[in-house]
Formats: sequence, C-alpha cells, structure tokens
Amino acid sequence: MKEVLRKQALELRNALTKEEVLSRSRKIITQIKSQIDLSNYQVLGFYMPLGNEVDLRPLMKELLEMGKTIVIPKVLDKETMEFFPIKDLFDYHIGTFKVLEPNSNKIMPKTKIEIIFVPGLYFSYQKYRLGFGGGFYDRYLKDYSNKKIGVAYSFQYIKEIPYNEYDIPLDIIITENPLHQFHDED
Ligand code: ADP
Ligand code: MG
Repeated sequence: MKEVLRKQALELRNALTKEEVLSRSRKIITQIKSQIDLSNYQVLGFYMPLGNEVDLRPLMKELLEMGKTIVIPKVLDKETMEFFPIKDLFDYHIGTFKVLEPNSNKIMPKTKIEIIFVPGLYFSYQKYRLGFGGGFYDRYLKDYSNKKIGVAYSFQYIKEIPYNEYDIPLDIIITENPLHQFHDED
C-alpha cells in the first residue's frame, strides 16, 4: 500500500514544471513565514531539494544571511542520518547515490537543532509522513523533541496514509494553501 502511494506521489510531483516548482515553493515559503516565527530559532534543519521536491533554498539563503545556523542531513550508513552545518547554499558535494551531501563532517547534536523542515511524498491530516521508504526520518525523529514541520505541495497533503508503529508524526504540515493550517486530525 505504501509503495503504491509512493509511486503515485512521485508521478504527480514529476508532472510539475520547473516554473511550477519555483512558484509553489515561493508560496510555501510565504506560508512558513506567516505560520512560524522564525526569529525564535537559531539552528534550523532543512534539506537540499531532490528532483521536484519543494525548494526552500531562498529561505535557507535568507536565514544564512541573517547569521542563523542551517543544517542539512547526510546519510552515514544504512540506518543513520545526521545533520551537518552548511556555510552557504553551495557548501555540499554530490555523494553516493547522487544525493547532495553537506561538506562538513561536524555532526550537529540533535538537542541543538530547534526546528526541522521535513520533505516527504505524502503527509496525512493525522500528520503522518510517507517518505522514500528508508525510514531515516523515523529513526532520526524518534528521540528528537523540538519542532518538526512537514513541507509539501497541497496535492501531497491527503486525508489518510497507512502508518506503522515506528512512523513519527510531525507537529504541523505546511503547504502553499493557507487553509491547510486548519486541518486537524479527524
Ligand atoms: P518512510 O518513512 O521513508 O516512508 P517506512 O516508514 O516504510 O519508510 O520505513 C522504512 C523502514 O524503516 C521500515 O521497514 C522500518 O523497519 C524501518 N524503520 C523505521 N523506523 C525505525 C526505527 N525506529 N527502528 C528501526 N527501524 C525502523
Ligand atoms: Mg515512515
């Protein structure tokens, strides 16, 4: 069931043009700024967008210029993902499996990260996340106690997705649709 949904979400996302990705991403950034007081956070977790993923780089750039610490994830082995600081938007290299990896080797301790923006294929009104199937965010977020925000296009925010006992729900989901902030668990 999760596999079918993953394929469907990827098809929908791949159908977006580059212009749509950028314009929808800009709207999502506007929603992030209106729903979250970013001045409260000094160390923020983001990600480098893959394919047509929501592109938060303009926001990351703005925050870096304000002197904030931006950390992005790197997969260390089959089970482990950690976050590392970047100095600017180009402070990464293409790692194994063509994934963009931060250059830094200094792990940011989990307790120091104040908010994490999490990408995904689908999110449900119950705030569950469907990822690529590696379970990396589930393992990372299991003992992370600060704020976690799901980021997605409006068509990726749906009523229900199947979840398992190890799936970790997010605090809120932000899409380009301002009304989505009022969706609650049914
Ligand atoms: P995703 O979250 O990327 O959509 P899944 O939720 O399907 O992927 O999880 C993928 C795999 O990760 C599962 O088969 C599960 O066994 C493993 N997994 C997830 N969380 C944990 C955990 N806390 N401890 C051990 N394995 C986990
Ligand atoms: Mg999961």
